Amino acid sequence: MTQPHNPIAAMTAAPALTPPRASQPRIAVVGGSLTGATCALLMLRAGLPVTLYEAAPSAAPRGGGLIGLEHPALDVLDRLGISQDEIVAHPSESVLEVTVRARQPIHAARRLYPGRNTTWSLLHHALTRRLPAGVLQTGRRVTGLTEHHGRPHLLFAGHSHEAADLVVFADGRASTGRRLLDPGRRLRYAGYVAHRGHAVSGFTQVRDFLRLEPGPGCQYNVAPVPGGLDWTLYLASSVTDYTHCFGAPPHRRTFALPRHVSETARALVDAHAALVLPAPHAATVHTTTMRMAAPVMDIDPPTRMAWPVGAGWAVLIGDALAPVRPHTGRGANNGIEQAAALTAALTQHHRWGADLPTALDGWQRRQLPGAITALRQGPRLGAHLGNHQP
Ligand SMILES: Cc1cc2nc3c(=O)[nH]c(=O)nc-3n(C[C@H](O)[C@H](O)[C@H](O)COP(=O)(O)OP(=O)(O)OC[C@H]3O[C@@H](n4cnc5c(N)ncnc54)[C@H](O)[C@@H]3O)c2cc1C
Repeated sequence: MTQPHNPIAAMTAAPALTPPRASQPRIAVVGGSLTGATCALLMLRAGLPVTLYEAAPSAAPRGGGLIGLEHPALDVLDRLGISQDEIVAHPSESVLEVTVRARQPIHAARRLYPGRNTTWSLLHHALTRRLPAGVLQTGRRVTGLTEHHGRPHLLFAGHSHEAADLVVFADGRASTGRRLLDPGRRLRYAGYVAHRGHAVSGFTQVRDFLRLEPGPGCQYNVAPVPGGLDWTLYLASSVTDYTHCFGAPPHRRTFALPRHVSETARALVDAHAALVLPAPHAATVHTTTMRMAAPVMDIDPPTRMAWPVGAGWAVLIGDALAPVRPHTGRGANNGIEQAAALTAALTQHHRWGADLPTALDGWQRRQLPGAITALRQGPRLGAHLGNHQP
C-alpha cells in the first residue's frame, strides 16, 4: 500500500533520462561527485524525477586519483551504459604486494583484485556527461533542511530554498546532511594522512597496482593512470603537523586539494619517500607537481540511513553515511551499491505501490552491514600499517 499523504507516491513515470518538470514532486540529490551522480543517473533511468545539487561552482574534475571498483559497482555502471572501455585505462586485475627493507624489495606476492581500477576523473566525467541538461545544478551549497507544509525543504547558501519529497545526501565525508540528521556521529582524525600525487613521468615501469610496504606506519601504492602514475603514500602526522602542511586541521580540511599543499608538505613527503622507498619510486614522488592529501578519519558506525521529514524522507549514502578509511577500497563501491539499492526500493514503491517506509527500511537493513563492516575494517588495516589512533 502506498502512503496516502506521501507525495513520492504521486510521482508519475517520466521517460528515462528526462529531466523533471518544475511542477512534479521530486528527488533532490545533494553532492555531485561519484555517489550523487550515480544516484541521479540511476533514478532518471528508473523514471524518477531528480535534481542534483553540487556546492562546487563547476562539475570539473578536482584532481581525483585511482579508485578500485569491484564487480557489483562495475555492473551498476554497465547498466547505466558506462562500459569499462570508457573508464578503465589499464585493465589489469593484478595487485603486486612487495615488502621493502632498507629501500630494497625483500618479498613479493601477487594476488588478483575482484574488479578494475578507474580514476575519479574518468568516472566522474562518464557519469556527469550522461546527465541531461538542467539536472545538475552547480554552485548550490545546501546549508539546512526543514519541513514546510509537510515536505522536506532544502536551504541553500544565498538564502534560496527548494522543496523535495526525498532528499538524498551524497555530500561526502564532511556531510551537511549527516550533521543535520545524525549529529552525534562526528569525524575523528586517525593520526595519519593519505598523501597523493599524479606523476606525469614515472622513473619506474608500473603496469599493475603495486603496493610497497617499507615498514611500520608507512605504505606506498602506485598504479598507471592516463597520462602517468597515481601514487598514495600513507604517513603518520600529528594534527599540528597536518595543519602546518595543509593550512587547516584535519576536521576542517577533509581533502587537501593541490592548492592547499604547501612547500612544507611537499618537502616532508619527498624526505620520507627518499628515506624508505626504492630510489626509482622516490624519484617519481620527487618529480610530482600535482599533489593532494586526505587525512584518514574514523566515525562511529551508523545505525540508520533514512529519516522521515514531514511526509517525505531524507537519507544518507556514500561517504556522507560512512566515510571509510581509504585502504578498505570500499568508499566509492559502497556509495554506488547503496545508490543502486535505493533506486530499486523507490522503483518498487513508484511502479508497484510498495509501502515506502517499509521499502526504505528494507533498503537500510540490507545496506547498513556493508557500511559498518568497511568502517570496522579501516582501523584493522591501519593497525597492520602500524598506525594507531593517537
Ligand atoms: C587515497 C584514497 C584512495 C581511495 N581508493 C578507493 C578505492 O580504491 N575504491 C573505493 O571504492 N573508494 C576509494 N576511495 C574512497 C572514495 O574516493 C570515496 O569514498 C568516494 O569518492 C566518495 O564519494 P562520495 O560521492 O560519496 O563523496 P565525495 O566524493 O566526497 O563527494 C561529495 C560531493 O558533495 C559536494 N558537497 C559537499 N557538501 C555539500 C553541500 N553542503 N551542498 C552541496 N554539495 C555538497 C562536494 O563538493 C562533493 O562534490 C579512496 C579515497 C582516498 C582518499
